[in-house]
Amino acid sequence: MNHIQILHEQALEAAKNYRKFESQLLVLLQNLDQHKVHYKMGYRSLFHYFTEALKLSESVSYMLINVSRKAKEVPELKHEIEKGSITLSKAKKITFVLNPDNKDEWLALAKNSTQAKIEKEVAKVAVKEISYPKLEYVNESFEVAEKVVVKKRDHARIQLQVGISEELMIRIRRAQDILSQKRQSTAGLESLLEEAISLCLDKFDPVKIAEKRMSRKTIQEESVPLRKVQKISQSPRMTSMKSRGNARVAIPAEVKHQIYLKTNGRCTYVDSVGHRCPETRFLDIHHLQSVAKGGGNELQNLTLLCKGHHKVIHQVGS
Ligand SMILES: [Zn+2]
Ligand SMILES: [Zn+2]
Repeated sequence: MNHIQILHEQALEAAKNYRKFESQLLVLLQNLDQHKVHYKMGYRSLFHYFTEALKLSESVSYMLINVSRKAKEVPELKHEIEKGSITLSKAKKITFVLNPDNKDEWLALAKNSTQAKIEKEVAKVAVKEISYPKLEYVNESFEVAEKVVVKKRDHARIQLQVGISEELMIRIRRAQDILSQKRQSTAGLESLLEEAISLCLDKFDPVKIAEKRMSRKTIQEESVPLRKVQKISQSPRMTSMKSRGNARVAIPAEVKHQIYLKTNGRCTYVDSVGHRCPETRFLDIHHLQSVAKGGGNELQNLTLLCKGHHKVIHQVGS
């Protein structure tokens, strides 16, 4: 065998092993997922287990999770990957559209077509899913603001790219008109986004709402004579809440506000090396001492946990 043939044989062997390894990895991941290994290890999601414990890249983690969950729904996908007739990256492309009803069609396409052809076919039926939102740092000296290159700035800039509907675009243009009119100067997309985000946060950010309510309350209390304040704190609602400590009683809005202030609207789970979870989304209020064990709705007994760590805490506790 000449030198070229030897290299080719080696490449074929390596590729075969690589495909075999991919299917083994897929089976392993399904088992991990099924046994909730990530929660038992203290990770708030399978994705965070992949990126933090296994040190896989975000894109590889997304791919593995998408494919392994889809393979559970459509087991034939797993068989094709095991046989080596569909690679993981091709499998990932069809996860958006594949389901038990159309599996024959899509699996055949994935087996017999190039990546580009698969992408094209998927795009025909699933335009929305493949227009990924994009938010990334850009080189400051080449910053592009709405297609116009502007001069270098001394702070980091992020390029935002997102697919939107035509309807939304028309509304954005309308909002830009209104904002420009109000300011008597042209409002670009960035100013509009700033304005919209401020309105959204003012209206919905629980930490901001709590800050506002609490400062309003302090002002009110200061202006109320002392005797009246004592009366308020002994109102029947508050006492009944305390005495019924063992029953599931709704947590009063004021206490909720204080929880958000206390935790700054962030999951309070701290891992074994002392890092606090950064999650600020999909948060649950958790009783440190459970209601069943007599824990009440006092601020000291309440905290915030993300959905994943809430599961972690309750699995460990049980
Ligand atoms: Zn809980
Ligand atoms: Zn968390």
